[in-house]
Formats: sequence, C-alpha cells, structure tokens
Amino acid sequence: MTESVGTNELLKDNFALSVVTWQEKFGRHHLPWQHSGAYATWISEIMLQQTQVETVINYFKKFMTQFPNIAALANANIDEVLAIWSGLGYYARARNIHKSAQMIVNDFDGKLPSNIEDLMKLPGIGPSTAGAIMALGHKHYGVILDGNVKRILSRCFGRHLDGQSHHAQKQLWQLSYWVTPEKNCHIYTQGIMDLGSSVCHKLHPQCNQCPIQSICYAHKYNITPHLPYPKVKKNKPSFTKHLVIPYHQGKLGLMKRPNTGIWGGLWVPFILDELPKEISTFRTYHSIKHIFTHQTWIIKPLLANDHLDQIEHWFYPEDALQLGIPKPVRDVIEIIHHDQINTLQEVE
Ligand code: SF4
Repeated sequence: MTESVGTNELLKDNFALSVVTWQEKFGRHHLPWQHSGAYATWISEIMLQQTQVETVINYFKKFMTQFPNIAALANANIDEVLAIWSGLGYYARARNIHKSAQMIVNDFDGKLPSNIEDLMKLPGIGPSTAGAIMALGHKHYGVILDGNVKRILSRCFGRHLDGQSHHAQKQLWQLSYWVTPEKNCHIYTQGIMDLGSSVCHKLHPQCNQCPIQSICYAHKYNITPHLPYPKVKKNKPSFTKHLVIPYHQGKLGLMKRPNTGIWGGLWVPFILDELPKEISTFRTYHSIKHIFTHQTWIIKPLLANDHLDQIEHWFYPEDALQLGIPKPVRDVIEIIHHDQINTLQEVE
C-alpha cells in the first residue's frame, strides 16, 4: 500500500459530512425515481447499470406507467417487459427483474425485502445494488460500491489499486463500509453518486468544485489522472452477422430467441454468419456496428424472400416495433417502416 493522507476517524467523519452537506446543496433532487419508494429505486438501479441517466429517464417513466407496482410486474408477460425494455440493451436485466418480481410475490409477501441477504437472493441484485436499495429505497443503512464510488475512494484515500482484482475489490468494500455513515445514509449515498457523476469525472475531475478537495490524496499530489489504475483493455473480437429479414406481402418474418444468451427472449429475423450462395435479396441496408460487452458485431441487414416456409410469425413493421426487439433490429425496421415500405410493396 502506498502513502495515504491518513485514514483516521476524523478524516472519515469529515469525508461523510462533506458529502452529505454538498448533496443537500448541490446534488440531484429531482430524478424521477427519487422519493418514490424502494420499488422505483430497484428498477432505476438496474436500468442505470451500464446505461446513462439521460437514456434511462424515459425508459423508467414508461416502465413505471406500465408496471406501477411489483404485483403488476409479476403478472405481466415477459414479452411485455421486454417490449418496454427494447433498445435499452443488456436484456438479462429485464428478464431478472421480471423473475424477481414473481419471487417477491411468491416468497416475500409481495414486498421488496428490506435486508441485504434477502435482496441478494433476487436475480440480478448484487451487493452494491442491494446497498443502494437499502439506503435510497428503504432509507436504512446500506453501502454501495459502483464505478463512481471506486473512483472517488481510490483518489481521495490514495489507493493505488487495480480496481478489477479481488484484492482491490475487498479493500474498496472495506473502505466504503468504513466511510458510509449510519446517520443520513441515504443522503450520503445519493451524494457520493452525484459527486462521481458531476464532479469527480474519470478524465477531467472538477476538483475546485469538490467538497472533499481539502482531504483528497490524488488532488494533493496532483495525480488524479493516475487513480484509479485504468482497466486493462482487452481487444474485443469482431464478427460479421447477416441480418436476413424475410419479407412477404408487406410483412416481416421474425422469430423469438431462446431466453438465454445474446438478445435472449427478443424477436429477431435470421442472424447468419454467412449468406447462402443463392439468396433472393431485394434490398440491402447500411451496415450497423453493435458493441456488446465481450464482442462487436458488424451487422449487414437485408430483405429477402427466402426461407419463408420456416417463418411462423409475420408482422407489419409498425406491429414489429411494438415487440421486444434489439436496438439494431429496431433501427432497420424503422427505416423499412418510415422510408421504404411503399417502394417495397411496389416491387413485391
Ligand atoms: S478533489 Fe478532485 S480527484 Fe479528489 S475526489 Fe474531488 S474531484 Fe475527485
């Protein structure tokens, strides 16, 4: 461990109090999931994993209108949930939320658990999400450790750690438990999230606006760009995929994918690694690059009238857009629907 500014009780209290005072004055108070109970906190926390606040807001509002409570969500069909989630990506999150709602109804009397152990029995809820639900949703004691918190703690307390390693995770969890106050835990938790998103940016931290500048190790030694250690970037493999959309009498042929794996449970056309030698294509579209966590797809969409007998489900483009469909498929269907459908019908 390298030199640090000294992790003593005074420092800890100073840290927490500064974050709380700052949050009350400068933090966010009007996000649609704030002050709306534990269910809203849970849904927002899951949506916010891997996704920016600005993107989440509209999805969250639509979701809460359609499924205003846990019972409504548990009673819904997974297709309805995936349709609302369509375009947000990482669809396992939606499937887990739906499964969890059913578990809550069956095993927890319809109420979102208010202890960490039971929360973590629900699919998709890890320790940090459980901590956020405890603190922000139930207003109890709860500790979080997301990317923002890791960055602030590493910088403020001078932890030169590779944030991905097991050792670093353990150290940062200990540090997060140590600094999280019992009193005003919900304000502190919102505060450290707000600080990470609006002040302690990854690339250009606004140290002159930061409430913990006076105790921050990275600021003191002018090493903010070096903490935390950057993730080792692995090159993602890239694959070409042909999105072959069967087209017949103005309708598109789609199939539902199995519930597991990429785009699990969503509706898609054929996704082929190679195009068959003879395929009757009557329109091709620009390639789309789609980045998953572990791989990149270069997607080449086209309309064809082959394999029609293999298709059981046909949809007009406007109806297909109401289904749970992945973002690149949605983008292509929107083009078909808005710009080209008249021309296409002429060439049938
Ligand atoms: S002083 Fe700068 S580096 Fe330190 S926590 Fe604040 S914004 Fe981040």
